[in-house]
Amino acid sequence: MLLFDNVTKKYNDKITALEDVHFTVDKGEFFFLIGPSGAGKTTLLRLLIKEEVPTSGSIFFDKIEVPKLPNKLLPNYRQRLGIVFQDIKLLPTKTLEENIAFALDIIGKEDKEIKETTEYLLETVGLQDRRNLFPEQLSGGEQQRGAIARALASNPEMLVADEPTGNLDPDNAFQILDILKKINNSGTTVMVISHDRDIVNQMKTRVIKIVEGKIVSDTKGDYDSFKAVKKHKQEKKEEPKEVFGGLDKDIQEIFEKAKIDNMDMVLNLTGADLENLKFSKKQKESLEKYVSNYLNNKK
Ligand code: ADP
Repeated sequence: MLLFDNVTKKYNDKITALEDVHFTVDKGEFFFLIGPSGAGKTTLLRLLIKEEVPTSGSIFFDKIEVPKLPNKLLPNYRQRLGIVFQDIKLLPTKTLEENIAFALDIIGKEDKEIKETTEYLLETVGLQDRRNLFPEQLSGGEQQRGAIARALASNPEMLVADEPTGNLDPDNAFQILDILKKINNSGTTVMVISHDRDIVNQMKTRVIKIVEGKIVSDTKGDYDSFKAVKKHKQEKKEEPKEVFGGLDKDIQEIFEKAKIDNMDMVLNLTGADLENLKFSKKQKESLEKYVSNYLNNKK
């Protein structure tokens, strides 16, 4: 259904956001795309909806070569993908029901179908009793569910959710996950961009992990790919104190307190994580250098 065929994306000839990214997705799959901040996840999403085109390589969705798609066919193509953007919220001046109905109206549905489909979508995300509330009256989890319902309005073949559980407590996060599973069970391919280790592990499904623009693992199973965990265990046994050899002592101490004890966890830290761990600007720079050296040595 989807093929990223050796895709490289450079910005301004200097920044390589994605390098030789190659993967396929079958119809009906549920998979996660994970990676630390700056890894290239948003770039991948923007290439998928042709907001950007690859520097080399190509992308195929069904039989469509996405980068070559004429602009006038873009709206049609994008309707085949339901995207739940991280920062695009429901329209504040419309109720939840009106938000969904509006999305259906835009794509040219007739009144009767709008009514029926809105009902069905409210039910899919379990928000029938919240239909008359405005977005600001909904909880974070409800807003996210509303955004999912809206993304489903065009009956997409693939649903893409960017950090759908970000900022939600575990109960709400798992509720979102259940809804995404349900949508997947009805035949829709689902791609979830997520940093949420618990959510990713819970699903025991395919996880594509990118770091610095490259796919570093593509496994069925856990957030921590088997290889990385195994390697970490070996490292621990042989040289318990050398896991972060060469890294500044103050940063090692922060990691120790936060129970970050392997490189795989470090590679998955986001900018927000570093803020939470109270990294100074200097410490951030120092860690970036350390990670970059680590990845270069791995090559
Ligand atoms: P993620 O979503 O995983 O955080 P992004 O795809 O946003 O990663 O970014 C990947 C890299 O590309 C980063 O180094 C980022 O600074 C760079 N980048 C993203 N968008 C642009 C842009 N429009 N112009 C220049 N560099 C960009």
